[in-house]
Amino acid sequence: MAKTKTTFFCQNCGAQFAKWQGQCTSCKEWNTIAEEIIQKAEKISWDVSSNPLGHQSSVTERSRSAKPILVSEISSEKEARLDTKNEELNRVLGGGLVPGSLTLLGGEPGIGKSTLMLQVALQLPYKTLYVSGEESAQQIKMRAARVYPEANSCYILTETKTQNIFRNIAEMQPDIVVIDSIQTLHTDHIESSAGSISQIRECTTELIKFAKETATPVILIGHITKDGNIAGPKILEHMVDTVLQFEGDRNHIYRILRANKNRFGSTNELGIYEMQGSGLREVSNPSEILISKNEEELSGTAIASTLEGMRPLMIEIQALVSTAVYGTPQRSATGYNAKRLNMILAVLEKRAGFKLGAKDVFLNVTGGITVDDPAIDLAVVAAVLSSNIDIAIDKRMCFAAEIGLAGEVRPVPRVDQRILEAEKLGFESIIISKYCKLPKASYGISIIKLAKVNDVVQHLFG
Ligand SMILES: [Zn+2]
Repeated sequence: MAKTKTTFFCQNCGAQFAKWQGQCTSCKEWNTIAEEIIQKAEKISWDVSSNPLGHQSSVTERSRSAKPILVSEISSEKEARLDTKNEELNRVLGGGLVPGSLTLLGGEPGIGKSTLMLQVALQLPYKTLYVSGEESAQQIKMRAARVYPEANSCYILTETKTQNIFRNIAEMQPDIVVIDSIQTLHTDHIESSAGSISQIRECTTELIKFAKETATPVILIGHITKDGNIAGPKILEHMVDTVLQFEGDRNHIYRILRANKNRFGSTNELGIYEMQGSGLREVSNPSEILISKNEEELSGTAIASTLEGMRPLMIEIQALVSTAVYGTPQRSATGYNAKRLNMILAVLEKRAGFKLGAKDVFLNVTGGITVDDPAIDLAVVAAVLSSNIDIAIDKRMCFAAEIGLAGEVRPVPRVDQRILEAEKLGFESIIISKYCKLPKASYGISIIKLAKVNDVVQHLFG
């Protein structure tokens, strides 16, 4: 009998310690260190004889025989990618799944991670293995019948032990493996319970080894704790190639998929889905859904032409300005940086003479999404002023500019793309900075170039 081996792990950051201590020296959290039983057993193996794109153990072979090569001699061929048949997912991944990559899909419980992954797995034109430790095969079947009844290349395995999963993989040789979820897996090599730091770490290590040695892409689903971290160790995020985050408000029907980390592509791209009874529908033209179709002209709304990654997005901003009932005025922003809202209110007060100091200001970006693009600033100004003086802004007008501390209307990058999106959606005019350089002499939309916040006030409200 081998002696039981134990180690101490921080449950917050995954740091390992030889003995217990009150505070984690790595992440400075208190009372997060717990003892876990670890015991290494013999190594397992999987068959590497075939894989979807013929990359036979490419990674290990390469690492064994790596030699320096001239940059000019490196082939510039694009790496092969597996098309997931899901445009939004492909976009966020940077063009599809890379063979041998490990992708982690995180999100709060109940947001629709399993629905998304099952839907993708069912639609894949490759032999796919969907491993579920969360639901029974019957439950998955019921859901599958709802989201994509005509699937025929997806296999379901309800199993949580990695050794059994690898035995099945060796037998059926799948092209893609989906694990739902990493927190339910456990390996025989370690004796602590499923979901513990050491189990998550060891199971992920085994999956990485499998993915790299067989060039099979593996997608892991991971739950997120309340404070927004992937439950369990932060190290999980460092171990995998790509970290995708599925977010949105459970009360809203829209879900956003974004990459927090991507070894094979940009992290700027955004995928948008609409949650329906039959599963998640890809939203290929998000601008149309983010703007309300209200025919009436309402004060306090303005539309911004923003960019999320490479993708132009028309977003509606709503503001409500009212006299403060209590002593201290309230300022609140949903989907927009609250500090930036305060800055803009200060600029309006100082540079344009609006007395907003004693007013409550509420700001909302519709659709439940969060925008970082500073080009939204001018629309925020317009919405706040429109609500303040209760005059509606023409619905056929939109905005794309940043506001500076001196009250200047600043140019924003790729303004051309923003103008074209506004034009495409039938807007009649767009306000941008006077200092924007435009590549084209004329557009199918009238372009109003302004230099200062005062000019904007003048233009909008006379
Ligand atoms: Zn720690």
